[in-house]
Amino acid sequence: MARVTLDHVTKRYEDVVAVNDMNLDIKDGEFVCLVGPSGCGKSTTMETIAGLTKPTEGTIHIGDTDVTRLPPKDRGVAMVFQNIALFPHMDVYENISFGLRLRNYDKEEIDRRVDEAADVVQLEGMLDREPNELSGGQQQRVAIARAIVRNPDVFLMDEPLANLDAKLRVHMRTELQRLHKELDTTIIYVTHDQAEAMTMSDRIAVLNAGELQQIDPPLVCYNEPTNRFVAGFIGSPSMNFVEGNVVENGVETDNFEVGFDPAGIPSLAVGDQVSLGIRPEDVYLVDQIEDPDAPHLTDRIDVRTDVLEPMGDEIFVYLLLEEDQETSMEDQGMAGQLLMSVTPDTEIEGDEDVDVVLDRSKIHLFDTATGEALAHGVADLTGIGSEPAAGEVESDS
Ligand code: ADP
Repeated sequence: MARVTLDHVTKRYEDVVAVNDMNLDIKDGEFVCLVGPSGCGKSTTMETIAGLTKPTEGTIHIGDTDVTRLPPKDRGVAMVFQNIALFPHMDVYENISFGLRLRNYDKEEIDRRVDEAADVVQLEGMLDREPNELSGGQQQRVAIARAIVRNPDVFLMDEPLANLDAKLRVHMRTELQRLHKELDTTIIYVTHDQAEAMTMSDRIAVLNAGELQQIDPPLVCYNEPTNRFVAGFIGSPSMNFVEGNVVENGVETDNFEVGFDPAGIPSLAVGDQVSLGIRPEDVYLVDQIEDPDAPHLTDRIDVRTDVLEPMGDEIFVYLLLEEDQETSMEDQGMAGQLLMSVTPDTEIEGDEDVDVVLDRSKIHLFDTATGEALAHGVADLTGIGSEPAAGEVESDS
């Protein structure tokens, strides 16, 4: 177990800045996922921690030791990669114990550690099998056991589940969580799959273009994203974004208005351009809710249903905001479109005119120019579309 600290770590490859001024403080025993799109610098960050590459600037500590210039073998880390790379002609026991045998551990100690690791990853009884007699998931467990026997302070895992099929991936997620609990060790885990990060981590570090965007517990990233990038990356399907302008009584978009008092957000001024974000589960069909005029909801918005995606447990409904229906799904653009999630028993069809409302307590506002978050929820900021608070005096009247 150990704390891992990155202090202003930058890694440049000629003119590419793979990692830019990264500061991370990963606590002892924490499970942190590094997530972000391909090329955002996840693997490079991990490689600087592992010692496979040296940062151009900055320092890295594992525990109290400055490991920035130490070779990988002296850092107390064990890595598990996407490519499992087991030795094909060695059985499971030989694969797991390979590193220990190389370091001349005595046989008794090796046997003890292999048995323990095999127990943790549930490979007991399979120690004499060769890799080709194992499933993909079992092979990945051998690779993890090989890391466990080294008794590392920190596990570094770079997309270890990426080559497994979807069902096995979900199963292995729970196995890794169990493993983390059992070993009580620090795990840093790279993935481009936000669902994997959401389900497993204590905290998620979201990266974009080599820069750390946010590091927080999964639900904080989901409910209070620091910027539009994190808002769009965390959550599947993605948050809807609609461009708008700040007016005296809220935000006006091409198709609807959201009422609140902009004075409630000190950095906001009338005329500012903002992106309004709302998740598909926070868009409601008026016919399906008890009180569509409840104060925390927006006014009704006329939309036309476009494509439906029945998922079994919910239906995703693409809604067209535009009056003329030229922006259909074929455009693939999100402008003029809103995705709504409804329960599977909802009677709804494509090409139907319906009314929807948005939950104002779940509306996020982002500065259009910088992407920075300005507000998470506007329902408590009184204005049009909400009941004025008791005793409140209307201004300008
Ligand atoms: P990720 O793991 O998020 O997909 P990487 O850390 O692999 O991203 O890469 C970040 C950026 O650094 C990319 O633009 C990639 O092309 C670049 N990069 C990574 N490794 C090298 C290298 N050895 N030489 C040059 N550029 C590299």
